Amino acid sequence: MSVYEHEVKALLSEAGVPVPRGVVIHERDFTAAGQLAEPLVLKAFGPGLVHKSDAGAVILGLRAADLPAAAAEMRSRLPDVAGFLVEEQADAGVELIVGVVRDVAFGPVLLAGLGGVWTEALRDTALGLCPVSERDARRMLDSLRGSPLLYGLRGAPPVDMDALVKLLMTVGGPGGLWERLELGEFELNPVIAGPSGVVAVDARYVPA
Ligand code: ADP
Ligand code: MG
Repeated sequence: MSVYEHEVKALLSEAGVPVPRGVVIHERDFTAAGQLAEPLVLKAFGPGLVHKSDAGAVILGLRAADLPAAAAEMRSRLPDVAGFLVEEQADAGVELIVGVVRDVAFGPVLLAGLGGVWTEALRDTALGLCPVSERDARRMLDSLRGSPLLYGLRGAPPVDMDALVKLLMTVGGPGGLWERLELGEFELNPVIAGPSGVVAVDARYVPA
């Protein structure tokens, strides 16, 4: 079973995790994307597309008028494209990873850390047993080596910590998503945190 990004995002949105506004396109008609605010992001989805940017299946900074040509180019290059997700591009911010992993001994564990392109290189993550309390969530964020990035480094505005803590609670707190997606693992990478909110711009679910 493969669960596509837009399907995971629908579930996240329903649970109260902010995700970008977007539309799913299956054919060649991109008029539905006209209702979205530019700049836009084009992402192809299909059974074999897991690490989308490695495959060249993500393009940022598009105008609605660019979509048909960009999509046709992706289709010609990628083997099995099932469709496209077109979404609004979030403003730049601090990119975080938030996820739930299943530990054989401890069970479901909330993971939070610096994400996006930095995930593998920095390995700066914190763990907390689900369900985490709000205090646990704040401690996890404060324990990151990169936590000064969240509080505003070198003149950058601090990120909306309350919104970030709320997101962590929605994922790993009491009654959180960790309970609903019973056996699988999932990962929001990145969550982009800015001065006036947070948004999960990528989401992946790995069924058990
Ligand atoms: P991948 O499957 O490669 O992880 P992502 O969906 O995470 O694909 O997209 C790759 C990168 O593009 C992200 O790490 C993020 O920096 C950027 N990105 C993706 N979607 C958006 C968006 N809606 N707004 C802003 N940036 C985005
Ligand atoms: Mg990603």
